[in-house]
Amino acid sequence: MKSIKILSVTISILLLCSCGQNSLCENTFFAMDTVMDIKIYGDKNIMSEISSCISDADRAFDRNNSDSEIFKLNISKNLEISPETAALIQKAVAVSEDTDGAFDITIAPVMDLWGFYNQQYHVPDTVSLNSALACVSYKNIFFSGNTVSLSGGASLDLGGIAKGYLSDKLCDIIKSHNISSAIMSLGGNVYCVGSKPNGSKWTIGIRSPKNNAELLCSVNVSDCAVVTSGTYERYFERDGQRYHHIIDPKTGLPVDNNLASVTVICKDGTRADALSTALFVMGIDKAFEFQKKSHDFEAVFIKNDNSIYITPGIEHDFSADSYKILN
Ligand code: AMP
Ligand code: MG
Repeated sequence: MKSIKILSVTISILLLCSCGQNSLCENTFFAMDTVMDIKIYGDKNIMSEISSCISDADRAFDRNNSDSEIFKLNISKNLEISPETAALIQKAVAVSEDTDGAFDITIAPVMDLWGFYNQQYHVPDTVSLNSALACVSYKNIFFSGNTVSLSGGASLDLGGIAKGYLSDKLCDIIKSHNISSAIMSLGGNVYCVGSKPNGSKWTIGIRSPKNNAELLCSVNVSDCAVVTSGTYERYFERDGQRYHHIIDPKTGLPVDNNLASVTVICKDGTRADALSTALFVMGIDKAFEFQKKSHDFEAVFIKNDNSIYITPGIEHDFSADSYKILN
C-alpha cells in the first residue's frame, strides 16, 4: 500500500503534455490518502517543484510513516521538529483555543480506536473510548522554540489541517513563478490562485452529501480556499448505522448534529481546513456565532436533508436552487 502510494506520488500522471507558457498544465497526484488535482495556466516546469512539495508534506505529516516528524514526536513525546511543522501545530492549537476545543489535533488515539487510520473499522466499547479520550486535549501540547512536548499520553493527528497547509504552500510556489491563474483540488480542499485565465471568478461546486456525483450549490471566488468537511468523505457502516470521521473531542463519537457538510471560504487555506472541521463539530448555531465574531471567512452549511444555510457575506457569490441566509 505504502509503496503504491509513494510510487503514485513520484510518478505522477502528466495528463496534458502540450504545456507551453500560459497554457493549461494538469497533473494528478496521490498523497495524504487522497487524489490531488493541480491545474496551472503557465509554465509546466513548475510541476516538479509542486511534486516534491506534495511528497515532502505527505512524508512530514503522515503519522503512520516511521520517517515522519509527527510519527517520531508521537513516539518520543518530546522532539525538536522543523520550524514549519512547529508553526503548523501552533496554528492548530490556536484554532483549538478559539473554538473551545472543537478542533483538537490530539484526537489521534480516538481515531485509531475507530480504525480510521488503517481502515480496520470497528465501534469501540465505552471503556476503551474513555481511556483514549483521557489523552485528548490540545492543552497537553507544549512549545519551547521548535521543540514540542506532549503530556498526558497525547499524540497528534494532523488530518484535519494538513491538506489546507499544503494548499497554502503550493499557492506560494505558484505565485513565486508569477502564475496568476491556477486551481488545486486536494481531496475536499480547493484552492483558487487568482482568477480564471479570462479574468472571471472560479466557480466551485459543493457536492450533495446524499449523492457525491451531484453538485448541490456553488460559490464564485478568486484567490481563496474553499474547504469542505463532510460525513460522506470517510465513513463505515455497522448494523445499519453510519459512523463518519469527524469526531467530537468531548465525546469521542462521530459528530451527530444533523449537519452533513460544512464548507469554509477563506483566504488562508490552513485556517479554512481547520475551521471546516471545527465548525462541523460546533454545529450550525455555535458556528454562526463564531463566524460573526471572526470576520475573515464565510461558510455554507448543508444539513442531512440537503437544506442549505449560508453566512450573509457569501450571498452575492452563491448559487443554489434554494437556500436560507443565516441571521
Ligand atoms: P476534515 O476532512 O478536514 O474535516 O478532517 C477530518 C480529519 O481530521 C479526520 O479524518 C481526522 O484525521 C481529523 N479529525 C477528526 N475529528 C477532528 C477534530 N475534532 N479535530 C481535529 N481533527 C479531527
Ligand atoms: Mg479540515
